[in-house]
Amino acid sequence: MTTTRFAPSPTGYLHVGNLRTALFNHLISRKAGGTFILRIDDTDPERSKEEFVDAIKTDLEWLGITWDRVERQSDRLDRYAAAADQLRDMGRFYECFETPTELDLKRKKQLNMGKPPVYDRSALALSDAEKDALRAERGAHWRFKLDQTRIEWSDGIVGDISIDAASVSDPVLIRGDGQVLYTLASVVDDTDMGITDVVRGSDHVTNTATQIQMIKALGFDVPRFAHHSLLTGPQGEGLSKRLGTLSLRDLRADGIAPQVILSHMA
Ligand code: GLU
Repeated sequence: MTTTRFAPSPTGYLHVGNLRTALFNHLISRKAGGTFILRIDDTDPERSKEEFVDAIKTDLEWLGITWDRVERQSDRLDRYAAAADQLRDMGRFYECFETPTELDLKRKKQLNMGKPPVYDRSALALSDAEKDALRAERGAHWRFKLDQTRIEWSDGIVGDISIDAASVSDPVLIRGDGQVLYTLASVVDDTDMGITDVVRGSDHVTNTATQIQMIKALGFDVPRFAHHSLLTGPQGEGLSKRLGTLSLRDLRADGIAPQVILSHMA
């Protein structure tokens, strides 16, 4: 059965660009008589706010974008920990100790030498004794070890995509403070919830490449992916939930009819 989701993080008010993502996914599931899930990506306890969860629902309801159920990532932390264990057992998950400043310095050096700023995997060379010593003095974060092959998929909007995994940093899945990051949480949710089609912004293309490897490593089927272009503001600037540019609630307050916004976005 066709199952799609719209997965905003509750860190601000939805803007017209977010709506476009919601609308595509909503239309795909409704056309197929499938399921549309509203997934709240709230693994970041500092930035996620309940008032934004309510505002997201209000905006979608105003536009008639109805969902079949709501899922919240903060309710599923055990599942993410289990998936992390699974990847660790397979040797695809490794502990790193660099501080943000050290990582930044590495990136600058690489860029100065004309190299892409890809994580150099130096944590893989640490001995157990070195890891014990580092663990005692600073927090560890965890990265997924990419298979350095080409990752390919047929994108529903962009067409054939091929990304060399060696040109991408091993993604951090668990932060130093233990927070599970979206990249892992989303893979676990998409596979557990039987998502068949994922439409999202083109800012997620590299995520998709790494997520495809994770999905395969965990033994699941890869959903169909499609990446749409991103809307910009009048000066060509990216829209931001946090800055509130072109937010749906402002358009509503300005008296714009929902049908007008929907037909423009569709
Ligand atoms: N929470 C992510 C975002 O808002 C979801 C991306 C996705 O659709 O996987 O960018």
